[in-house]
Amino acid sequence: MIELRKVSKRYGDTVALHDVDLHVRRGEVHALVGPNGSGKTTLLDIALGRIAPDSGEVVRDGKVGCAFQKPRILDDLTVAENISVFGADKGVAETLRLDRVYDRRASALSGGFRKKLDAALALAGEPETVLFDEPLDELDDVSKRRLVELVGEYADEGNAVLVSTHNLDDFDCVDRLTVLYDGVVILQEATDELDVTPHEAYLRAVEEHESRDA
Ligand code: ADP
Ligand code: MG
Repeated sequence: MIELRKVSKRYGDTVALHDVDLHVRRGEVHALVGPNGSGKTTLLDIALGRIAPDSGEVVRDGKVGCAFQKPRILDDLTVAENISVFGADKGVAETLRLDRVYDRRASALSGGFRKKLDAALALAGEPETVLFDEPLDELDDVSKRRLVELVGEYADEGNAVLVSTHNLDDFDCVDRLTVLYDGVVILQEATDELDVTPHEAYLRAVEEHESRDA
């Protein structure tokens, strides 16, 4: 599991995160959504430990894996070699159809295949917590479905998953939702407590927040 307590982060005058509390529990897929620039990547970077918060604390329990927008992929190696170097699971790779491009050099992969390879590498060594930054971007519909199922099953095995996404309708395995807006949490709720779909709850929260500000 991973927990952020009263985490704040500024870049000059820009408030990237303000007093954010977020607890990703074992067995749960926790979705992080918000308009562009709302602080999702900053939050994931802080959760991972790539950057430090200005204030607040991060509690990590167990091994943390991640699939981010700046992938760790080794470009001069083939897909199969990347999988081998990082000790990623071949079954996961096959589920994501990476076996079709095993012999291709990573530098020659399309964006979608890079995202899929990075997702497979994120699960290498079976981390108890996994962080994904917009993992469905550039994926075809078949791969989206398989990745969502994979993520749901991974959480069901007792692991904690935090995922930022623009595709809440595709991510139907989400257990809890956090909506960020200008670095502030404007909605945080278990999805089974919502009276509408998570995607509708997200859009409604943003609309209500903006009309309050106007
Ligand atoms: P999101 O992932 O939701 O699009 P980000 O976390 O990338 O949002 O960005 C949150 C805010 O912080 C934005 O206003 C962005 O411009 C700003 N920001 C992010 N990283 C930096 C940085 N390294 N330097 C300056 N500003 C940054
Ligand atoms: Mg981002």
